[in-house]
Amino acid sequence: MDETILQEVFDIVVIGAGPGGSAAARVAAQKGLKVLLLDQKRRIGLPVQCGELVSQWIYPYLHPGSRSIVQPIDSLILHFPDGILYPMKSPGFMLDRSIFDQEMVLKALQAGARLLLGIKAIGRTPDGIKVRWRSKEGIVRSKVVIGADGVNSTVRGWSTHPILKSLSALQYEIYLPEPQSHGEIFFHPDYEGGYAWFFPKGKVANVGIGVIHPKTSLLKDLLHSFLGQLRGLKKFKQIEILFKTGGSIPCEPHPLPAFENILLVGDAAGHCHPVTGAGILNAIQGGEIAGRIAAEAVLRQDLEYLNHYEREWEEGLGNSLLYGVAKRERLEKNWNRSGMDFQELIRNCWTGFKEYHFDRRKGLL
Ligand SMILES: Cc1cc2nc3c(=O)[nH]c(=O)nc-3n(C[C@H](O)[C@H](O)[C@H](O)COP(=O)(O)OP(=O)(O)OC[C@H]3O[C@@H](n4cnc5c(N)ncnc54)[C@H](O)[C@@H]3O)c2cc1C
Repeated sequence: MDETILQEVFDIVVIGAGPGGSAAARVAAQKGLKVLLLDQKRRIGLPVQCGELVSQWIYPYLHPGSRSIVQPIDSLILHFPDGILYPMKSPGFMLDRSIFDQEMVLKALQAGARLLLGIKAIGRTPDGIKVRWRSKEGIVRSKVVIGADGVNSTVRGWSTHPILKSLSALQYEIYLPEPQSHGEIFFHPDYEGGYAWFFPKGKVANVGIGVIHPKTSLLKDLLHSFLGQLRGLKKFKQIEILFKTGGSIPCEPHPLPAFENILLVGDAAGHCHPVTGAGILNAIQGGEIAGRIAAEAVLRQDLEYLNHYEREWEEGLGNSLLYGVAKRERLEKNWNRSGMDFQELIRNCWTGFKEYHFDRRKGLL
């Protein structure tokens, strides 16, 4: 790493070069601020830990002529254990997440942000953050810190609410003999608090399962039996596993994503949808708000201004996340209740079914 960076003072340091961090760095740099984006990884976006499905609303954030789209998705088919299917219009894209993340970083660099890779944030100091690279340590000085460092965020650890509830997921990339234009979601009482997915991506497909504790210890068995089910359903001769990945997906927003001179963004702030776990778009939208608010706070020389982040986030997407939190509570509370109508529960709690919105209309949640 270029150690002269340790002699400088930045306006904003963004920890984590995922979609959330890159969006924040881009917007702050566009306002003329001195921004440093850093990541512990040596290669942006790798290894991929994502199902790579995004809604069409990602379109404005794509690089012109982006190489990150592998294929469009026209709809989702939702499967219930009794064989009932619900097709749903759901236009979107399957991404190559590593290319997508690299393109997002490129946009931040084009806006004037600087990038450091292979450097890990390990602590905070009164004037910035403590970092480690190889076996060395140093301090990066900055007026504002944006924590976009993912679900196991170090920066969130400096807040009063360091742990967020999460789903655990395991995913395999498999060879796909026939192309497919729709994604598929599978619900089953064994996939507690979560679901399984089959997302086609050109000549491969991402096949995964996410569940809550205590089912997490069964993830591998659940995924293997799901692969067996797919084999029958899709008449695959055999299933070739090309890549294994997984990780945690936060399912509750952080109650205080702005504290002192710090803003939390994306998974670090728990900004995935609490029921579906979709988080790419939310990370970008939250990142853009955080970048703008951080830049404004520095320009005004008023760190109190950082508190606007919470209000703006809530007005933008917070309400729909909080509604999702209430749905997740209902989902988990009723999952194992005897006599529970599984299909009714899912239809009430899974965004996309019309029943999901009933409580909002009735003013119940
Ligand atoms: C198995 C799985 C499947 C998923 N499928 C989908 C999907 O299909 N669609 C969807 O929308 N969402 C999906 N998600 C969620 C989505 O991947 C995340 O919401 C999204 O990546 C959040 O972006 P982010 O920028 O907040 O964090 P991340 O993309 O996690 O980026 C955080 C970055 O911070 C870096 N970092 C971490 N700690 C430090 C540190 N201390 N110092 C320096 N750098 C650090 C990491 O190296 C990483 O590059 C899935 C998640 C998982 C685990």
